[in-house]
Amino acid sequence: MKNSRRQCMILSVAGAFTSLLNDKIQAQPMVFEADPQAIKLGYKMDASKIDKLRYGTYVTGQRCNNCSFYQGKPGSGVGGCALFPGRQVAAPGWCLAYAK
Ligand code: SF4
Repeated sequence: MKNSRRQCMILSVAGAFTSLLNDKIQAQPMVFEADPQAIKLGYKMDASKIDKLRYGTYVTGQRCNNCSFYQGKPGSGVGGCALFPGRQVAAPGWCLAYAK
């Protein structure tokens, strides 16, 4: 009984911590196309609007949420990116560093 209560408290604390962490991730600012690093990488928030003449490496269907650098949850509209630490990119976005 005592162990069960302890496990329950641990799970409760872990749940609260996870919730706080999720809130923190949600609160991370977005990467905007005008950000200096975004300009260098040709980041666009909507891959369907990529200028294919300017960005010849872009292939239709490439999006942040199917890039190996993307850290967002499936189904989420935004998520982290390893190349933009502490910020979030748009799931339908794209940049020159895209990696399958
Ligand atoms: Fe999107 Fe991938 Fe570029 Fe990050 S590295 S901005 S996830 S395409």
